[in-house]
Amino acid sequence: MSKEETHCCLCNGILDDPYGHNAEPIMTGRCCSICNMSAVIPIRLKLLQISLDKDGGNKSWKKKIK
Ligand SMILES: [Zn+2]
Repeated sequence: MSKEETHCCLCNGILDDPYGHNAEPIMTGRCCSICNMSAVIPIRLKLLQISLDKDGGNKSWKKKIK
């Protein structure tokens, strides 16, 4: 069995959880819960907002065409 990564790929701290958290879309790898909360989640929310904004933009654009 290969050894799992036990360090956070963002702050290089030791993961408190053997699986850690998925650090994407910032990094491919595992991050600790602190980085997950302070960095990964806010970025994910921003990306989600951008995609929602794009959706809304497309809808209003289509409405104008109709
Ligand atoms: Zn970290």
